[in-house]
Amino acid sequence: VSTSAASTIRQVKLERESELRIEVANDTPLKLRLVTGTAEIFGTELPPEIWLTFPPRLKFAVFTWYGATIELDGTTETDYTADETPMISYVNVHAVLEGRRNRAKASSSEGPRVIVVGPTDSGKSTLSRMLLSWAAKQGWKPTFVDLDIGQGSITIPGCIAATPIEMPIDPVEGIPLEIPLVYFYGHTTPSNNVDLYKVLVKELSQMLERQFAGNAESRAAGMVINTMGWIEGVGYELLLHAIDTFNANVVLVLGQEKLWSMLKDVLRNKQPNVDVVKLQRSGGVVSRNAKFRQKARSHRIREYFYGLANDLSPHSNIANFSDLSVYRIGGGPQAPRSALPIGAEPAADPTRLVHVNINRDLLHLVLAVSFAKEPEQIISSNVAGFIYVTDIDIQRKKITYLAPSAGELPSKFLIVGTLTWLET
Ligand code: ATP
Repeated sequence: VSTSAASTIRQVKLERESELRIEVANDTPLKLRLVTGTAEIFGTELPPEIWLTFPPRLKFAVFTWYGATIELDGTTETDYTADETPMISYVNVHAVLEGRRNRAKASSSEGPRVIVVGPTDSGKSTLSRMLLSWAAKQGWKPTFVDLDIGQGSITIPGCIAATPIEMPIDPVEGIPLEIPLVYFYGHTTPSNNVDLYKVLVKELSQMLERQFAGNAESRAAGMVINTMGWIEGVGYELLLHAIDTFNANVVLVLGQEKLWSMLKDVLRNKQPNVDVVKLQRSGGVVSRNAKFRQKARSHRIREYFYGLANDLSPHSNIANFSDLSVYRIGGGPQAPRSALPIGAEPAADPTRLVHVNINRDLLHLVLAVSFAKEPEQIISSNVAGFIYVTDIDIQRKKITYLAPSAGELPSKFLIVGTLTWLET
């Protein structure tokens, strides 16, 4: 572990099959370039000679299969070289998937549906990313499904989403936001409404099934599904639900023997065609505490409105209360105890649609704009985007909100959950 001084260029020589692990400083970006050899960042090859700029706090590794020289310009929180990595086992998985894709293409059938599971900070998102980028490099267009509502990589927190990956994922920019299919759950932990989470997973899978039916190319390329790090109790149940709902046929278990053996046992009887594969966690995966995760979520929302490099200019819009129709899913007024049989607990229907009166409770919340045409379609519809409520004027019945662009929203139906943001 070393902490470098001010802006001086340093060279790092990497031996074959080793990696340079970097945590960019907290408030200054880092420049990096490949000088000789070949190297990749989470499956995406670095262009030779060109300086790339990595934003503060980013954690990543530059890996080389055959050796490389890297130059760094700027400060890092930490950087060190490691020659023990699980990369060979990861690329072997890729090779197996590649074989299955080729067979699927030849027989116009289904390619592999891979689901990546494991505890928090086991490197699930990173492995998903590598498998997708390696596949895209070979010309496939696999579908990335992200079921992680806390630290997803496709859109803002509180959502599950899917998108085709057509090119190796950019190590700085991440996944392009243009074409995702997004369902809004509205909370950052599944325990807020487990039933709703399951319903949305089902909706997303059915939508992808429909898209796959008409697209042999994506069908053969298959899916890579990233999941949450919640693997105990209800979390475990949700993993089984996702495996079943998406018809996954390869389960990659990262860094946990117990989870691997549990899944292997259950699936052997239930779905014997599913391969359950145990993989090592990389020593490079950085653990992130609750505070860091909260901050990362806030950054993601900021990035949605303002862009990664502050390159977008969101628009502040004003609407009449009567122009918008806000709904919440689940909970709502319950039957009074007195109306129930003795001993019965009032139960709130978790997927019931509840109309919400616009008032100051909506201040600083992030709402989703539904594609629904009728309120009844809200639960089963994906969303067009998000708005952020910045002011509520009760007297004049006006709501001020930030949106990615000016003009009317694609729909008047908005969904509210518990997703908040404080613009900083
Ligand atoms: P979660 O708990 O959110 O489910 P996860 O299991 O998906 O996490 P990742 O997001 O893949 O874990 O990894 C955690 C962090 O570690 C990320 O910031 C990632 O960029 C970083 N990371 C992963 N692998 C390496 C590596 N080999 N070297 C350096 N950093 C790494």
